[in-house]
Amino acid sequence: MALAVTRTFGLLPRLGSCVCRTRRLILNRIHRRSVVSCIDPSLGLTDEQKEFQKVAFDFAANEMAPHMAEWDEKEIFPVDTMRSAAQLGFGGIYVRPDVGGSGLTRLDTSVIFEALSTGCVSTTAYMSIHNMCAWMIDTFGNDEQRHKYCPALCTMEKFASYCLTEPGSGSDAASLLTTAKLEGDHYILNGSKAFISGGGDTDVYVVMCRTGGKGAKGISCLVVEKGAPGLSFGKKEKKVGWNSQPTRAVIFEDCAVPVASRLGEEGQGFNIAMKGLNGGRINIASCSLGAAHACVFLARDHLRVRKQFGEPLSNSQFLQFRLAEMATKLVASRLMVRQAAAALQEDRDDAVSLCSMAKLFATDECFRICNQALQMHGGYGYLKDYAVQQFVRDIRVHQILEGTNEVMRMIVSRNLLMDQ
Ligand SMILES: Cc1cc2nc3c(=O)[nH]c(=O)nc-3n(C[C@H](O)[C@H](O)[C@H](O)COP(=O)(O)OP(=O)(O)OC[C@H]3O[C@@H](n4cnc5c(N)ncnc54)[C@H](O)[C@@H]3O)c2cc1C
Repeated sequence: MALAVTRTFGLLPRLGSCVCRTRRLILNRIHRRSVVSCIDPSLGLTDEQKEFQKVAFDFAANEMAPHMAEWDEKEIFPVDTMRSAAQLGFGGIYVRPDVGGSGLTRLDTSVIFEALSTGCVSTTAYMSIHNMCAWMIDTFGNDEQRHKYCPALCTMEKFASYCLTEPGSGSDAASLLTTAKLEGDHYILNGSKAFISGGGDTDVYVVMCRTGGKGAKGISCLVVEKGAPGLSFGKKEKKVGWNSQPTRAVIFEDCAVPVASRLGEEGQGFNIAMKGLNGGRINIASCSLGAAHACVFLARDHLRVRKQFGEPLSNSQFLQFRLAEMATKLVASRLMVRQAAAALQEDRDDAVSLCSMAKLFATDECFRICNQALQMHGGYGYLKDYAVQQFVRDIRVHQILEGTNEVMRMIVSRNLLMDQ
C-alpha cells in the first residue's frame, strides 16, 4: 500500500534540468516523505488491483514523469513509451484476451489510468481514447474485424482515434453531417471531423458518419484506415495542454471504405459511440484523479518548505484547511469514479447517469484541486519549471471533451426527470 503511494514521488516537485540549491533541498525531502494514508489510492482495492496499480505507478514515475515537461514543450507524441506501456497490458486494458487484450474490469482500468496520469496526464489521456476505440472494435466488431484490428491495437503497434465531433456538431453530436453513401461494396465518405486526438499520427479511425436520415438513428460507425484514398488531415492544433498528443481535423473527400469495415448494423453508430463514451468518461475522470493526487503532494511539499512571515506556509491554518479540502474532494471524486466504473461493469440501468455524474464531479473538482495547488505555490506555480502548472493545463480540457460538463448535467437531469 505504501509502495503504491511512494511511487508517485518520482515526478515531484519540479521539472527541468537546472536544479538550484533550494530545489535540490525540495527534491531531497521527497525521498524522505511519509505516506499520507487518507488519500492512499490503494485503499479498498484487492491484492491483484494493488499489484497492477503498483506497476502503473512505477511506470509513471520511471518512464513518464521524467519526460512529461519535454513532451509538453516539444509536443512529442511518445510512441515508444506507449508501446512499452502496452507491453504491460495497458494498450487494451478492457479488451478481451483472445484478441490480445488484458480482459480487466472498468474499475481496474480506472485504477491504472489514475496511476499513469501522475506521470503524464496528456499521454495517459490519449491512451485512454486508444483503449476506448479498441474496446469498441472488440465489442461491436465481428470476429474478422476483432482479429484484424485488436491485436495490433493492444500492443500499440497501431494507434487509434475516435471521430465523432465535427466543426458544426459538438455537444449536439447526433446532428453530424459527414455522409457515407453506399456504392457497391464500399461507402463513399464526405465531410470532416474536428479536434481528433491523435489525428494524422494514428492508424485506425473509428468514424461516426451518416448513412441514413437525420438524427441519431441515421448514424453508422466505420473503421477507416490511414492511407485510405480521400483521407487527409488538417494542421496540428496549438493547444493549452494535452501537448504530448496531436489534435487535427480528419477530412474525407470521396473516401472509399469497404462495407466490411462497418461496426454493427447501419444505424447503430450513435449507440456504439455513446457506449464507448460511457467508459471514456470514467477513464478521463481517472486521468483527472491522477493529476489531483499528484498536485496534493506537490502542494503539501511546497507548504512545508516555503517560508513567509518567518515560518513555513504549512503553519497557516487557512492553508491547512485548504489542503484538507483538496484531499477530501480528491477522495470523494475517486469514490464516485470507482462506483460508476463498477456500475458500468455490471451494466446497471443507472450506469450512464453515474458515469456522467462521476465525470462531471471528478473533472470539475480535480481541476479545482490542481488550480488550488498552483495558487499555493504562489508565483512559482506559474513557472514551467514546476510541474503543477502542467497538471492544471492538461486537465482543463477534461471538463470540455467526451461530452462537456454541461452535457453531463443534461444526461443526469434527463434521467431524474424521466424517472417515474
Ligand atoms: C483537445 C481536444 C481533444 C478532443 N478530442 C476529440 C476526439 O478525439 N474525438 C472527438 O470526436 N472529439 C474530440 N474533441 C471534441 C470535444 O468532444 C468537443 O469539443 C466537445 O464535445 C464540445 O463541443 P464543441 O467544442 O463544439 O462545443 P459546443 O458544443 O459548441 O459548446 C460550447 C459551449 O456551450 C455549451 N452548451 C452547448 N449546448 C448547450 C446547451 N444546450 N445547454 C447548455 N450549455 C450548452 C457547452 O457545454 C460548451 O460549454 C476534442 C476536443 C478538444 C479540445
